[in-house]
Amino acid sequence: MGRAPRNRKAEQRLMPDDLSPQHSKTGHANTGAHFATRMSHGGRPGSRVHGFVNPPVHRGSTVLYPSCEERGTLNARSLEQVMTYGTAGGPTHFALENMIAEIEGGSRALIVGTGLAACTLPLMAYLKAGEHCLMPDSVYGPSRRIAEGLLKRFGIETTYYDPKLDGAGLEALMRPNTRVVFAESPGSHTFEMQDIPALAEVAHAHGAKLIMDNTWGIHHFQPFTKGVDVSVQALTKYVGGHSDVLLGSVTVNTPEDWAIIAGAAREIGHYASPDDCWLALRGLRTLAVRLKAQEAAGLAVARWFESRPEVLRVMHPALPSHPQHALWKRDFTGACSLFGVVFDPRYTVKQIDAAVDGLKLFGIGASWGGYESLALPTTNYITRTATRVDVLEGPTVRFHIGLEDPADLIADLEAALDGLPR
Ligand SMILES: *Cc1c(COP(=O)(O)O)cnc(C)c1O
Repeated sequence: MGRAPRNRKAEQRLMPDDLSPQHSKTGHANTGAHFATRMSHGGRPGSRVHGFVNPPVHRGSTVLYPSCEERGTLNARSLEQVMTYGTAGGPTHFALENMIAEIEGGSRALIVGTGLAACTLPLMAYLKAGEHCLMPDSVYGPSRRIAEGLLKRFGIETTYYDPKLDGAGLEALMRPNTRVVFAESPGSHTFEMQDIPALAEVAHAHGAKLIMDNTWGIHHFQPFTKGVDVSVQALTKYVGGHSDVLLGSVTVNTPEDWAIIAGAAREIGHYASPDDCWLALRGLRTLAVRLKAQEAAGLAVARWFESRPEVLRVMHPALPSHPQHALWKRDFTGACSLFGVVFDPRYTVKQIDAAVDGLKLFGIGASWGGYESLALPTTNYITRTATRVDVLEGPTVRFHIGLEDPADLIADLEAALDGLPR
């Protein structure tokens, strides 16, 4: 598989002192430096910003050309990072695109308005009427809604599969018209790990694409070394990092896949606000240190939960007690701070809800990846059609651990659990 060209030449001509790493004193993209270094130095323009550290927000719809001839030339290069119109992206978009492509180890990334839009785009790009899609039973709820709504209306059938399926299991579900295998590891709310390389092998043997939601993995899972064709992320989560921005990314690693994704995005009219891209770039500067702190705090809180008699089990792939811990260990270099807790079935959902209501440091709400801790009761939000709902052994709560001191979080949780009936 070839890598899609980054079009350095175009960058040099059109933005000579802007995005191209070789023109920046700091933009050490792709130099093999460590993750934290790359997050600090990547995607930063040079002299055009008068020496200021951060790039400005470039807002704009119309792009002016020096001549009619120039306009004609650029129109033919719409798949490159050239600025032809606002929807084709500007310097702020391209800086973020390049950094996301680098984080995921792909050649090109596209930024769209939300994480959900990033899930929808490749499904619309690769599937057409009469074709078949496979989705894990543990898929993010709104992704299931895409399959049940949009895809169904457009004549595309979806089969849900057990996320713990091996290659042979997937083989049995493949049909001659299966064009897409969708994956998400770990699964939303229930955290099952998927054997991505095994699934990729089967998908490719049948000429299907493997599309993965890599929001949990961020940079800890490198999709293109594991056989993934298209990787999507909700940048809303840890990349944004401050619960104040919604964005999604679609990353690929071949020129062919880029042409399909960028072409579909152009047809649909996808766009992301440059202001939001700027916030995401700002989030990236501290991503490495936030992730490291939140991974450690998340594990500390998860281990504490494991020690509590009120807890039946903790659904955290980085804990040795997780049923597919070996897959996490094989394929991931780390974890984020999102996990689930199954409480003992002697407690009712109402009792657990009351304990969550009593927490002082945990907000009750959706989303994750910000600096603040969250608790979300999930028992009634888990849809399963292909597998047993194992999680319903007891009431479940999803926890996101933020940047607070874990000792304070544990004290808060301890008070809540101590208040449960014995
Ligand atoms: C949050 C989330 C999304 C969607 O992101 P939004 O920006 O909220 O639309 C997609 N996939 C997963 C796994 C998520 O957690």
